[in-house]
Amino acid sequence: MIGVINAGSSSLKFAFYERERRIISGQVDGLGSQPAAKASGQDGEALEPPNLGRKPPTTPSEVLPVLLPWAKVMLGGRRLAALGHRVVQGGVRHTRHERVTPELLGQLETLVPLAPLHQPHNLAAIRTAMEINPALPQVACFDTAFHRTAPEVAQAFALPRELFDEGVRRYGFHGLSYEYIASVLPEQAPKIADGRVVVAHLGNGASLCALRARTSIASTMGFSVLDGLPMSTRCGDLDPGVVLHLLKHKGMSVEALEDLLYRRSGMLGLSGVSADFRDLLASHDRRARFAVEVFCYQSARHIGSLTAALNGIDGIVFTAGVGENAAPVRASISQRCRWLGLELDESANRRHGPLISKAGSRVAAYVISTDENMMIACHTRALSIVK
Ligand code: ADP
Repeated sequence: MIGVINAGSSSLKFAFYERERRIISGQVDGLGSQPAAKASGQDGEALEPPNLGRKPPTTPSEVLPVLLPWAKVMLGGRRLAALGHRVVQGGVRHTRHERVTPELLGQLETLVPLAPLHQPHNLAAIRTAMEINPALPQVACFDTAFHRTAPEVAQAFALPRELFDEGVRRYGFHGLSYEYIASVLPEQAPKIADGRVVVAHLGNGASLCALRARTSIASTMGFSVLDGLPMSTRCGDLDPGVVLHLLKHKGMSVEALEDLLYRRSGMLGLSGVSADFRDLLASHDRRARFAVEVFCYQSARHIGSLTAALNGIDGIVFTAGVGENAAPVRASISQRCRWLGLELDESANRRHGPLISKAGSRVAAYVISTDENMMIACHTRALSIVK
């Protein structure tokens, strides 16, 4: 049995796999405010979640001392063989997922300044699991690793070269999702699998990745998870002049600015209504419609940019919560990509595909479900058996 842990800033998501089969999944969210746990079994049926007790955890890593004993009971006689973790930042050196050692943890600690909101939680979860069961193999799976194949020219900001060498560069994220999609393309979209494909991971976090023969050559996310597309609460592309203006002339503190860019912008900021596309699409509020329009406009604009990086395009894949479920969003983005040769099949799109482009369309479009946890489970199994 392989366990998968995704420790976020205020939530911890978990899953347990037997080979390719997910036996249990769930999450604890509201950590630091009102923590609540939920869990489901392999057919989606609700399970009694871990009991958070009278002194509930306030951080994701504090969930593990409750979660692991709970999982032991729920998994019956099945032994937990290893734990895999999603780690947001692997830096320049970690181009592959790795088995956790004290040395690796030390190196990953030095990357905290690159991802201060996420990396500490990822690492704290690994350390806590190590304290609870030092013999349990653990594997770190990096969100950045998949993009290390992008050429230097795609990773550079036009800043002094020393900064690039120090690590101020475009890393790209959502790598586990793109790696999963790349792995299933030959089976699910064989005609485009080895061609030029833009994958649109549109969830609460959103980004695009340019794949050439299933290898990442560019992405819309850069140094942090703020860059590129507007997201549910994050701003996406922003002129750095705006940041300087807010700091110098609006007297904003760094903390207030961080809160603005990560938690009060994007769809929530633009609409003033909700961060969730389900609410925005159901709303008649003018600002909600405008927020969705900005999202679709920016998505199409960035698809154009990645098409230039790929020197043409053979297919587009929509994935993640919005990409898999929001037909009107896919329709709007696809309409804006007609000039590229994409002809949407409206009724296939309403049925969520998988193929949503017309038979004669020069650019094919698909809806494919992503599974980052499955990717982590596969790597964790492989890396914990080898050593
Ligand atoms: P995360 O980035 O947190 O993993 P997901 O990929 O699960 O998020 O995407 C979650 C988002 O997907 C929700 O906030 C919601 O906006 C959107 N979503 C989910 N289901 C639907 C749906 N049926 N229609 C429109 N949007 C949806």
